Amino acid sequence: MGGSKKRVVSQPSSSRSIVKANPNNKSVCTEAPILSSYNDQIRPLLDTVDRLRNLNVMKEGIQLPTIVVVGDQSSGKSSVLESLAGISLPRGQGICTRVPLVMRLQGSSSPEPEIWLEYRDEVVPTDEEHIAEAICAATDVITGSHKGVSDTPLTLHVKKAGAPDLTMVDLPGITRVPVNGQPENIYEQISGMIMKYIKPQESIILNVLSATVDFTTCESIRMSRQVDKTGERTLAVVTKADMAPEGLLQKVTADDVSIGLGYVCVRNRVGEETYEEARKQEEMLFKTHPMLSMIDENIVGFPVLAQKLTHIQTTMIARCLPEIVRKIGHKMETADLELKKLPMVMASTGEALMTLMDIIGSAKESLLRLLIQGDFSDYPDNHSMHGTARLADMLSKFSDDLQAKPKQVREFLMDEIKVLEECKCVGLPNFIPRSAFMAILSQHVDSIHEKPVEFIKNIWDYIEVVLSSVIAKHSENFPQIQSSIKRAGRNLMCKIKEQSVDRVIQIVEMEKLTDYTCNPDYMKSWTEKIDTQKSFVDAVLNDTTKLESFTVNGFGNVKISHLREYHAHLLQQAFDMKMRITSYWKIVLGRVVDNLALYLQLSVKYLVNTQFQKEIVAEMVDSKGGGGIERMLEESPSIASKREKLKKSIKVLKDSKDAVAAIVDQNSG
Ligand code: GDP
Ligand code: MG
Repeated sequence: MGGSKKRVVSQPSSSRSIVKANPNNKSVCTEAPILSSYNDQIRPLLDTVDRLRNLNVMKEGIQLPTIVVVGDQSSGKSSVLESLAGISLPRGQGICTRVPLVMRLQGSSSPEPEIWLEYRDEVVPTDEEHIAEAICAATDVITGSHKGVSDTPLTLHVKKAGAPDLTMVDLPGITRVPVNGQPENIYEQISGMIMKYIKPQESIILNVLSATVDFTTCESIRMSRQVDKTGERTLAVVTKADMAPEGLLQKVTADDVSIGLGYVCVRNRVGEETYEEARKQEEMLFKTHPMLSMIDENIVGFPVLAQKLTHIQTTMIARCLPEIVRKIGHKMETADLELKKLPMVMASTGEALMTLMDIIGSAKESLLRLLIQGDFSDYPDNHSMHGTARLADMLSKFSDDLQAKPKQVREFLMDEIKVLEECKCVGLPNFIPRSAFMAILSQHVDSIHEKPVEFIKNIWDYIEVVLSSVIAKHSENFPQIQSSIKRAGRNLMCKIKEQSVDRVIQIVEMEKLTDYTCNPDYMKSWTEKIDTQKSFVDAVLNDTTKLESFTVNGFGNVKISHLREYHAHLLQQAFDMKMRITSYWKIVLGRVVDNLALYLQLSVKYLVNTQFQKEIVAEMVDSKGGGGIERMLEESPSIASKREKLKKSIKVLKDSKDAVAAIVDQNSG
């Protein structure tokens, strides 16, 4: 330290990053910054952040750059704030600060200081003399007297000549042991509150440490290191330099507790000193004390602290603003979207009716695209909603399943022989009794009749899923009527299922009633197959060869030994009938599939184009007790309050956006 003992302070060398305290960087500035008039560039930035804070944008989850003052109890936090502001705050033993105290310091040109408190919606003007009382009274109002703590902030505005442009939050001191009347969990309450404030990356931690204690044992150090390991956003203020001057230099140069932004040693107001006296005493102390004067003048005294804090604050604000702008925009969009998603309120029955028709209309269009036109643009990635494709899948699976070769249960020709034996009549042997053919046809139909019914049920189950998704999607903004519309959808599906099953049963029954086809394939197939009739019968009855099996066109190698006991004409008839039914059955199965496919298309179209609308209108408008339309005019209280909240949020965000927009425009300009 040279002879020039004039208090000098290094100027910020860059406003882009937070500059670490650099004891070797000395430049001369003639005026102490605590007295300097505010910088024209800084003021608008601070104003903007203050405005955002005023708008309570933090409630919307947007963090503002904030200097948070932490410290163990009686470390001198309140005294530090007092010294910065140049006013008296409640001081002393015991817990004084019990709510977050936001201090907004502002320089002013008027000689008379302006001081007022703001909490909840109250504004309480006060003056230097009564400030301590006013804070205590307001704290009691907020915490409900007694010694509890609360996280409702109290804002203290101080406009005073020479005050630095700073906004800081003072938090309750950390106490381990509850004093009389304090809740048992006071430590958890306070540390929770502190954490909430120091956790955001936007917060600067001003850690107040008493020179009289070992820094490594400080609770406030332990806490700030939890959220800021490297200390890059922590600045330490060492108070009570006057009480423990020995080894202080050692303590701050060793930096055992890694404070990234550096230390500033101070002496606060003691006893009944005036603010001005206290500043003089401090200056004297660091100049003349044999040990304290050894400490670099760039890290001692309130002028240095004030200057450092304003610099850090400005840098932090400049750095955070773009992100804040982005976040505000994002939150606004989200809130807007959420508001739009809220169920709408209808002003009149007419409007409600119009809306209902809109819902029906848009749902119908969507169903039309999915189930008939094969346009899946509404659900591009949800394959289960691709109606026409899924219906085609189901149909082709059904067709394969139906036409799969049935397992041969009885031995070859035995079904036919049994039927023929029961249809015996007096007549020529080379006529097949029609009744016998119908009986065998009937057996065939009975063996498959469940499949088409099952198929059509599956189809409607699937369509019901599609229909209810579409209904849910198009009515999601109207929970008042969604259930009615859904119910209408379910009723409709029930009806259609019933109708369809009847219709499918009919289609199958028709095949039992008449054996007819105009398809020439029948005759072609039969002629081909009947060719082997003679050789087949010969093979069965040939006593000399006694063949075990024989290859029949279309059936492969079949066993024949069991047929030897029957008459030739019965075998001929049975063989003939087998060939007829085989040729005909193929046509029947094809016809059932075709019929079902056509019927399905018809009924889906009918459902979408006509029944859907009819059913919902009936449920919503015509039904006796329904009053579905009227229900659209009501709004549940929970939704109403949610709407109000969202609207408020949007307003706050919009105002915030306007507030930042001005400054961002200015800066980019
Ligand atoms: P807080 O609990 O952290 O807010 O601490 P206070 O600001 O209330 O200070 C606690 C006590 O320490 C008060 O009696 C102050 O007068 C005293 N004190 C604070 N700073 C200094 C200082 O720098 N020097 C001296 N001698 N006393 C101080
Ligand atoms: Mg205090």
